[in-house]
Amino acid sequence: MPTLLVIEDEPKLLRFLGTLLQEEGYHVLLESDGQRGLRRALTESYDLLILDRMLPGTDGLTICRQVRRARPSMPILILTAKDAIAERVEGLDAGADDYLVKPFAFDELLARLRALERRAHPPTSPGNAGMAVGPFLIDEAQRQVSIDGQVRSLSAKELVLLATLARHPGRVFSRSELLEQVWGYDADVSEKEVDVYCHYLRKKLRPFGADKMIESVRGFGYRLNLTDRRR
Ligand code: CA
Repeated sequence: MPTLLVIEDEPKLLRFLGTLLQEEGYHVLLESDGQRGLRRALTESYDLLILDRMLPGTDGLTICRQVRRARPSMPILILTAKDAIAERVEGLDAGADDYLVKPFAFDELLARLRALERRAHPPTSPGNAGMAVGPFLIDEAQRQVSIDGQVRSLSAKELVLLATLARHPGRVFSRSELLEQVWGYDADVSEKEVDVYCHYLRKKLRPFGADKMIESVRGFGYRLNLTDRRR
């Protein structure tokens, strides 16, 4: 089960969240102070951040911005006491993935956590070396891939696309499957977008002779072909 870091200064709510989330099987780290929370959020190993907006020390939005900068793919859920639209926009602008207005039902929190986990990239804990497949070392947290030790930055979509293909080398993914995995099932984009991004990805891999490894299967989709590498 994932590890959650919860930063919330209301002692009763913090205890309540700690107990109930543990009962749900989560591993939970609790913090009540903003400044300590920020430090822990940047240094500790966890999979999802639940963050109160109003905190003593350092406020939730500041923490959110800094975590987003340091850990681009970290799922962040903001708890906010106010339901003003401006506040919600502010939270999302600061890099939160979702927000929940207090008081909230625990079931709704669980549902949102599950949604965030589903949306999140497959778990890559900080300090984890990433996924090694063929010549690739894919680091989703850092949004980069190294090929034979040379680092190349990828956009978020390119990275998820490569990671999706790399999890099952040789397997052919249809365009619609890739669309669902990379853009999300309700995304309003056409399957042409998959071709466009595979093209981008190939361009970035070309200097390493690895562009042909993103193999197109005519009329169907794409696969990662680990054997097809130019030297
Ligand atoms: Ca608070």
